[in-house]
Amino acid sequence: MQDIEPKPPVCNDARASLRAAARAAGSESMERLARDYPLGPHDQPQSMCPAFGSLRVGLRMRRTATILSGSACCVYGLTFTSHFYGARRSVGYVPFDSETLVTGKLFEDLRDAVTATARPAEYDAVVVINLCVPSASGVPLRLLPKSIDGVRIIGVDVPGFGVPTHAEAKDVLAAAMLRYAREEIEAGPVQAPRNGRGGLPSVTLLGEIFPADPVSIGRMLEPMGISAGPVVPTREWRELYGALDCAVVGALHPFYVASTREFEAAGRAVVGSAPVGLEGTADWLDAIGGACGISRARVDAAKTAALPALRGVLGASPIRGRITLSGYEGSELLVARLLVECGADLRYVGTACPDTSASARDKEWLRSRGVEVRFRASLEQDLEAFSAFSPDIVIGTTPVVQAAKERGIPALYFTNLISARPLMGPAGAGALAQVVNAALANKPRFDEMRAFFEGVGTGPSSGVWERGRIPAGAEGLVKLGRKAVPGKEAAGC
Ligand code: SF4
Repeated sequence: MQDIEPKPPVCNDARASLRAAARAAGSESMERLARDYPLGPHDQPQSMCPAFGSLRVGLRMRRTATILSGSACCVYGLTFTSHFYGARRSVGYVPFDSETLVTGKLFEDLRDAVTATARPAEYDAVVVINLCVPSASGVPLRLLPKSIDGVRIIGVDVPGFGVPTHAEAKDVLAAAMLRYAREEIEAGPVQAPRNGRGGLPSVTLLGEIFPADPVSIGRMLEPMGISAGPVVPTREWRELYGALDCAVVGALHPFYVASTREFEAAGRAVVGSAPVGLEGTADWLDAIGGACGISRARVDAAKTAALPALRGVLGASPIRGRITLSGYEGSELLVARLLVECGADLRYVGTACPDTSASARDKEWLRSRGVEVRFRASLEQDLEAFSAFSPDIVIGTTPVVQAAKERGIPALYFTNLISARPLMGPAGAGALAQVVNAALANKPRFDEMRAFFEGVGTGPSSGVWERGRIPAGAEGLVKLGRKAVPGKEAAGC
């Protein structure tokens, strides 16, 4: 496939000048962001505002307040999206204008807001997120107090011109919290986990996964004498200590570059990929067992316990169809592996996330099976793959799904229908096969709908008519049951 130049989104048109402004303002975070989240060929968000990733991590933690600092329109969009996804709590906002921005009063306002919010009876931590304009202006969140009355203050810059995806923005905040928790551990005793420390060495699971997946992983690890530890990003502050207190980290999602650095600074080994499908599970158990120094016999026992059930599920409901896959959640390569193991003819996987060391095994495995793998894939490249491979079903982002449905091809939205399901163990294989096979079986309905709506909403029937008569070609409206009839006077148009 040829390289296609992605179109920049509107809010990032000025990204080069914003980056330059941030550097000129002395913002150190820009250099770090550029190192952690390398750009290109897809070097800007083509999805929601990346800061949503950080906001979501903060909003999902117990006893954590989250405050945004940015333009009102950005904050409106972010709060809207967070409530759409069930935040069920308030998002703090410190507004600014040109004067408070250039005089430094915005920083004072932020400090006042943080001081007023940091109530130890209610919160363990207050998170402040600098959006594009305050990041470009170098509003120095690092100068906020480190804690107020025992409430930790965490400030992060998450500009859209420095963090390419909302997935990587999760990493920005998760890593800042891990760093803080690691320094607390180094300084002295910390709070124990809510349910006490387990007796077994644990595997911290790096990446947001379906709630049943840690249970499936725990079962697979049991024969090796190790357990599934906390999931990072965590749901409360004290889980961070448990996450750092692990035997090894399973980087289930490969884009947590800064978080990985924090775990490595704590002396923890990090293993990429995840237990998906037969080969994926066998490889992962080998890698985890090796990193924990588990004997060959115990690793084999774990594989003997886990693999037969998986083999049974994979054989019971194979996927028969050609697929292209794309998304921006970071779990695309794992889903791709599972699809191939389910029997699918997968031709392309595009992810908006970058190529990292944690994705190496999945990338090689997929490429060795003839699947085209694209990192930092743009919407244009995803659409090009869809056109080039003529899939029977498309799994993708909203605009890719839209394009497929317009052509009568069944399509599934990756974020809501695929990444929000179990992936690990027999439950994951069964769930994925079920949803994909159900969508494939819908092809006749798509053909029927396409025939029914043929011509509607395109060309002369797009709804913009010359006053007077309905133009030839707008017959589709009759099929929709509207009052307009070709050749007759069109009322009110
Ligand atoms: S914070 Fe930046 S990337 Fe996010 S909506 Fe505002 S301008 Fe766009």
